[in-house]
Amino acid sequence: MKSARITGPNEPLKVVELETPHPKDNQVLIKVKAVGVCHSDLHLWEGGYDLGDGQFMKVTDRGVKFPVTPGHEIVGTVEEFGNDVKGFSKGDSVLVYPWIGCGECPACKVNNENLCDTPKSLGVFQDGGYSDYSLVPHFKYLAKLNGVDPESATSLACSGLTAYTAIKKSNQNSPEFLVIIGAGGLGLMGVQIAKAITKAKIICVDLDDRKLETAKEMGADFVMNSKDTETSNKIISVCNGKGADSVVDFVNAPPTAKMGLTVLRKRGNLVLVGLFGGSIDLSLVTIPLKSIIIQGAYTGNYSDMLELLELARKGTINPMISKRYSLESANSALEDLKARKIVGRAVINP
Ligand code: NAD
Ligand code: ZN
Repeated sequence: MKSARITGPNEPLKVVELETPHPKDNQVLIKVKAVGVCHSDLHLWEGGYDLGDGQFMKVTDRGVKFPVTPGHEIVGTVEEFGNDVKGFSKGDSVLVYPWIGCGECPACKVNNENLCDTPKSLGVFQDGGYSDYSLVPHFKYLAKLNGVDPESATSLACSGLTAYTAIKKSNQNSPEFLVIIGAGGLGLMGVQIAKAITKAKIICVDLDDRKLETAKEMGADFVMNSKDTETSNKIISVCNGKGADSVVDFVNAPPTAKMGLTVLRKRGNLVLVGLFGGSIDLSLVTIPLKSIIIQGAYTGNYSDMLELLELARKGTINPMISKRYSLESANSALEDLKARKIVGRAVINP
């Protein structure tokens, strides 16, 4: 099989020929039809995350081993399977749940494998979908598409799933006003999902007017370009002068996290999702005085992915795929995402 692999931080991906694995027991070999290109693939490619103050968290210190085949938004057809696999036949179109856990820790025991203590996620800790074939360790991680468009379905494994978890968390205080920061792959899914499952008025913030235009088409009630230094004041004034009930930050860098805290009203709820990173100073006394909640959200669990597939099947959400690449041009896909040239999601068709 052919795979585009990361050999080391910032090294161009190498397309290599590897032996196609033969699935055993519960394993399933998927012939990859499309794999989403996520900003997290970029962080993996860059070798880690910005911790702020010149510090860097290396992915190799978190258990990643190079070379690795990235790609965690995998859709394809069942090609071959082990003897213990039930309920799937050759040719079935499936979406792969990539956030595989150890199965033993407290999170895995309540089916939140995405929050596992020792994760084995596909495309991060084991080879993923930038490849014409992908080996899935157990058939329980597959979901049949049953009519959902394969390319759109890719984003339901990560960008849609993460946005879904984050928007659910942001909806816990029944917001009248919800601010979504970042209108990229995740944020645009966030806007659609917020429109579908909350009653909030949605204010979407980005640096790019094209993306804000798309956010508006997808249901944002207000859009604001944060290059404007008055953005925080404008958000507060849209929110009846009190500020937003909830903010979901799909960027989560110092300027956006500061903006999130500034526009949050009393009893507000800030959900941090993006991995752009960095660090900020917190005014500690403000947190109890305003009684705000600051929380993180990391991908989602398998049942959330099934719920999302159902929303996509009904047409309630419609993930946007704007660009397609071959496996050989995987480098260009990552470069274009880095240069902010992609609106919505790009996929690789191996
Ligand atoms: P993307 O590149 O598609 O979108 C990022 C968007 O943020 C772009 O529209 C960009 O214009 C905007 N942006 C950047 N800096 C900004 C700023 N200062 N102010 C306003 N807007 C700004 O990325 P994506 O695939 O949507 O991923 C977003 C982030 O979420 C990445 O860091 C990714 O790794 C992370 N992520 C987190 C999880 C999780 O589970 N927590 C899951 C997947 C991705
Ligand atoms: Zn992702």
